Amino acid sequence: MRAVLITEPGQYGLETLPDPTPDVGDVIVAPDGCGICGTDLHIIAGEVPFTRYPIVPGHEFSGEIVAAGRGVDHVRVGDVVAVEPSLFCGHCPPCRTGRENLCLNFDSIGVGQQNGACAELVRVPGHKAFALPDAMRRGLGTLVEPVSCVVHGFDMLETRLGDNILIYGAGSIGLILAQIAVHHGAGSVSVVDTNAERLPRALKAGADQVATNADELDRPQGWEAVIDATGAVAAIEDAISRASHGGTVLLFGVAPDNVQARFSPFQVYNKELRIIGSMAIRHSFERALLLMARGVIDGDLLLTHRFKLDAYDEALETFRRGGGLKLTVVP
Ligand SMILES: [Zn+2]
Ligand SMILES: [Zn+2]
Repeated sequence: MRAVLITEPGQYGLETLPDPTPDVGDVIVAPDGCGICGTDLHIIAGEVPFTRYPIVPGHEFSGEIVAAGRGVDHVRVGDVVAVEPSLFCGHCPPCRTGRENLCLNFDSIGVGQQNGACAELVRVPGHKAFALPDAMRRGLGTLVEPVSCVVHGFDMLETRLGDNILIYGAGSIGLILAQIAVHHGAGSVSVVDTNAERLPRALKAGADQVATNADELDRPQGWEAVIDATGAVAAIEDAISRASHGGTVLLFGVAPDNVQARFSPFQVYNKELRIIGSMAIRHSFERALLLMARGVIDGDLLLTHRFKLDAYDEALETFRRGGGLKLTVVP
């Protein structure tokens, strides 16, 4: 099979690899497409501590099952599935207390030790493959992974009906957050992005107000929920200052692991703020599928570019330039 192979940080290209075969419990998926996200850039830069090279990248994918090993009975050859890429050990303390996404031995298809979906074929554990609901367009399958991360984010956020929600970042995650916030019964949804060119998309995603700076939004009482989808320290510091009394700040974007942010501990005390994080997916993959089958996510708004496997480099360059929202590699 043809596959993108990252042999070591900074080194990657199209290679011919042996076709994977299914072990007991595995299925082989022929990906329809595979989304690109910031994690892929971190893998290529050698910045993901648990990546084992060489690795085929690609963790946001769906496709058709073309082979199944013994012991797989909930999906079968011919099914079109989306695949939850996170892999958990099942025996560490977080796993044993139901917080598998925080597994001390966390691994992820296309990120850690298992080859991913920027390839004509990918082997995955059968129990990580979820058949797409009939009502869901096959072409949206690559979005299930990021949508399920957002669903977990909302689990962590515990918003109430009518809460006013402020989102930093109008990239693909910011727009998924905005669409789910609207569906979730937000009183209002506001989106801030320093790049004004991105703001019209946020309006299309259902935002009531958009701005390049939260000062323009004129809400001195603050927001009940503030979500950072940028990972940028300046945005995070601003986000914490915008929460209302009793408000919650969700850090969803991935900040570099060596940076520090400043906030006022007095404000956290005096306003009883909650500052929380959200990491990957937890029991949220099937719910993401149901939301997508109901049309909660506008795939046409998000899926802006498609690249062939041999144009992986061009796809990464386009992503680095900030061109488009969700870029898809089509094996
Ligand atoms: Zn991703
Ligand atoms: Zn574990």
